Amino acid sequence: MRKNYDMAVIGGGPGGYVAALRGSQLGLNVLLVEKERVGGVCLNRGCIPTKALLSDVEGIHWSRRAAREGIILQEPEISLAAMMKRKQTVVDKLVDNLEKLLAAAKVDVLRAAARIAAPETVSLDTGETCHAGSIVIATGSTAWAPPISGIGLPGVLNTRQALELERIPESVVIIGGGVIGQEFASLFAGLGSKVTVLEVLDRILNEVDKDIAKRYATLVSARMRTETGIRVDSITTDGEKLKVHYEKRAQEKSVEADVVLLATGRRPYFDGLGLEELGIEIQSRAVLVDRRLRTSMSGVYAIGDVIGGKMLAHVASYHGEMVAENIAGHGRDVGDEPVPACIFTTPQIAWVGPTEEQAQESGLPYRTSMFSLSANGKALALGESRGWVKLMEDSTTGRLIAAHLLGPQVSELVSELALAIQKGLSAADIAGTIHPHPTLSESVREAALGFLGGPVHAAANVKSFNGSSPVSRRVATSKSITD
Ligand code: FAD
Repeated sequence: MRKNYDMAVIGGGPGGYVAALRGSQLGLNVLLVEKERVGGVCLNRGCIPTKALLSDVEGIHWSRRAAREGIILQEPEISLAAMMKRKQTVVDKLVDNLEKLLAAAKVDVLRAAARIAAPETVSLDTGETCHAGSIVIATGSTAWAPPISGIGLPGVLNTRQALELERIPESVVIIGGGVIGQEFASLFAGLGSKVTVLEVLDRILNEVDKDIAKRYATLVSARMRTETGIRVDSITTDGEKLKVHYEKRAQEKSVEADVVLLATGRRPYFDGLGLEELGIEIQSRAVLVDRRLRTSMSGVYAIGDVIGGKMLAHVASYHGEMVAENIAGHGRDVGDEPVPACIFTTPQIAWVGPTEEQAQESGLPYRTSMFSLSANGKALALGESRGWVKLMEDSTTGRLIAAHLLGPQVSELVSELALAIQKGLSAADIAGTIHPHPTLSESVREAALGFLGGPVHAAANVKSFNGSSPVSRRVATSKSITD
């Protein structure tokens, strides 16, 4: 093990490990320090384990759908232990593969907690000290919970603990109706738990386009109860149960559950790194970086969740590649690229670009085109036709600016739209591209056709906003031929 490196990366999540691998590809000598297992939150207790479990729950959903339509199955018998075992096998396989990749790339990996002791100097809690020309902070984020009385009670869980449950709870209260809260709500509802979601804002999924979030809320309302515009006061015990006390429209209310899940957000994590002592600038609780991912201290960079903004694994990994290229001297800027985001609920949500509310705030003149999956052959064949594709174009330039999708597997549709937006393409470019049949992706082309005179399999549903308030809307027609 050497003591001098070109690049030392602190934190082995999707930001840090990608930076290390890319750095090695570019010929740098790389050290990666990780205090737990490589893979970070994403592989070990975030994206991957939740998606492994959610995929099983989708299986339950599909089997019930099949049963309604002629394939007579017994009501599925759910073994949470088997599901958890499969989830862990998937996680372990990915971590194992990653360890092999790092070894093959000749990245030195140390399991320790690191601190930046001085410029170009990383000290480890194992007593070792290493030197590196460039240091990358990739220490991620940690769960944040508001100071609610009773959050320390047994049965009040964070997401990490929820992924280790041994029994399916009969009832669950989820505090927080954001992305992570909704994925867990989908998971528990799919397992048969009685789910109540408590959200402080006046709607769930506040970062999702309002049209889509509203439609999603309607679709899931039969599977879970949602209370919005509330304030949680405390959690107490009531015999075997937990009781969440909250206030809604000045009225005291409460709801009982076996388990309470805190899904109240995450904050950048840099505890013990020594940033304050070194004078590295922090802004809004995140490490401040410029467009080249440089912190305020020469030779120190930061990437991923620790810099705040869009806390997503693919953003962290993109930063990881960019930072390694910058350290290798390539000069890559980040910041303006469209970032797709997905929510792996049933049905799924995916989007890229601003929401309609954000576009209105910015005063941009735009048009929207909405296409219902009820007019898409593949969606009907799947028996999952409750969904929509909503595209937004800049009405001055005709360029696509955003896409908002709701429906089965729409996470697989959004990359085409991210590419289109990144490359400044228009609805005509999408419509001029042959999409295979029968696929859900045809609904993207149909929505694009909406801007060009109308989709083939439904009437046009196009609205425009002229860039000044109040909103001016022109609804061509809104009837789908199969509605
Ligand atoms: P992290 O993955 O947090 O990794 C940071 C690493 O740094 C950790 O392993 C930590 O142990 C290590 N570390 C910290 N301090 C030190 C130190 N001093 N010394 C050494 N090591 C240190 N994102 C998506 O894009 N899609 C999803 O579907 C998705 N699902 C999620 C589900 C859940 C339940 C959660 C919690 C998150 C989810 N996310 C998802 C978010 C995603 O996990 C994060 O955006 C991503 O992991 C951030 O990567 P990172 O490399 O910045 O940090």
